[in-house]
Formats: sequence, structure tokens, C-alpha cells
Amino acid sequence: MSYNVSPVGFVRSCFKEKVAIPRQPQLAPAARGVLELVAPFDGGEAVQGLEQVSHVWLLFLFHQALEDKPRLKVRPPRLGGNTSMGVFATRATHRPNGIGQSVVKLDKVEPGRLWISGIDLLDGTPVLDIKPYVPYADIVDTATNDIASGAPQLIPVQWLKTALQQAQGHAQRLGEPLVELIDQCLAQDPRPAYQTPGPEREYGAQFWDVDVRWHYPEAGVICVLEVLPAG
Ligand code: SAM
Repeated sequence: MSYNVSPVGFVRSCFKEKVAIPRQPQLAPAARGVLELVAPFDGGEAVQGLEQVSHVWLLFLFHQALEDKPRLKVRPPRLGGNTSMGVFATRATHRPNGIGQSVVKLDKVEPGRLWISGIDLLDGTPVLDIKPYVPYADIVDTATNDIASGAPQLIPVQWLKTALQQAQGHAQRLGEPLVELIDQCLAQDPRPAYQTPGPEREYGAQFWDVDVRWHYPEAGVICVLEVLPAG
């Protein structure tokens, strides 16, 4: 049996590629985007009342990780990428039906447009449904998860003076908290867990319309090298 679903909208996100996106929402409050609704949801009626809500659940498609054959076991990056686990025990992107869910902050509601932050969503993500977060039902005081017991440990992020100046300039131009965004995302240490790079190894990712490059001057420390217009 199969069912058809179609997106109610698409996310315009600060994250233009998967690298450096936090593994869950709320980890980078400066990660912002706009959920642009499509017809017939874009006229204002469907979001009426939503301005009374601080956070929403987004149900979405991992559109850049869809696969024909469902995986039963996955290797979550959080566990170092070499421990295999049942797909339903994880939040892995490769999963049956490719459906993700995130609680995000609702900053502003406009007809046809929701301004959201604390997102972990790639640019262009198709959203299947939007539901208000209901604290009395959604907060489970007694909940435990021994696989992911706490937020990832943060590492210190340093900046070359020139890189910080570049980021501040782009932040002003974009009207976005770009320095905070880069700080919050890189502090999660986006490097694959199995890599132990030397200081000569450089990494990069696009945030909004800028390319950010960084390296690890010593184990467990990130230094931002440059923030330049995306090429
Ligand atoms: N909070 C969601 C959940 O639990 O279903 C997502 C968790 S998943 C581990 C988060 C990762 O999904 C991000 O780090 C990013 O790399 C990836 N991602 C986000 N949007 C995506 C998309 N549209 N297609 C494929 N991967 C995506």
C-alpha cells in the first residue's frame, strides 16, 4: 500500500550544504530560515492563530538523502560512524520514507511565510506538515535516551582577526547573526568523528551566500580562517 504526500512549503535556510548543519534543532539558535508556503496554504488562512505559538514541529523530507531501498541498520555519526544500530533507534537521515522532524522557534508569522530559527534543515527542504509545539504534552520529564543522553560536547572556536572582520561585514550586509551562526555550528565540531586532521587540513562550508573555511590548529580546537563570498 502506498500513500501520496505533497509539501506544504519549502525552507529557505542559512544552510546551503549538509556539512556543518547541527545534528538536531535548537543547537544553533542563530540558524535561521524562512518556510515559504505553497498554494493553497500561502494565503494566510492556514497560519491564522499560529502567532500565539512560540515553537512548531516541522515534519519534512530529507530530500537529499532519499533512497529506494530502506536501510534496517545505520551507523550514526554521533556514535563515531562505525557502530551499527537499528534505524528506528536513531534519527538518521537515511530512513524509511525519509521523514524528519524538528522543533523550531517561530520568530514571525506572515501570510504564506514563517520565519523560523534554531533549525537543522538544508536549503530547499520540503515540509510536509507544521504543528504547534504543545509543552504540556511534548515535554516528557521522565524521558531517557542512553544512546544520545546529552547535547554534543562543544569545542572552542577561535577566529583569525581578518576572518572575524569578514564575517562581521557579511553579517551587516545580510542582516543576519552570521558570527554567532558560524560560532554555534563549528562549536559542534562538524568533522566526521573518524578523522583526526592535522593543522594543514582545511574544511569548508557555505552559510547563506558565504564560504567559511576553518582548520584544527590543535586537537579539539577550531580556528576560522576566512569568510568569503561563495564562489
Ligand atoms: N531533527 C531531525 C530529525 O530528528 O528527524 C533531523 C535530524 S538529522 C540527524 C540532522 C541532519 O540532517 C543535519 O545535520 C543535516 O546534515 C541533515 N539534513 C537536514 N536537512 C536535510 C535534507 N533536506 N536532506 C538531507 N539531509 C538533511
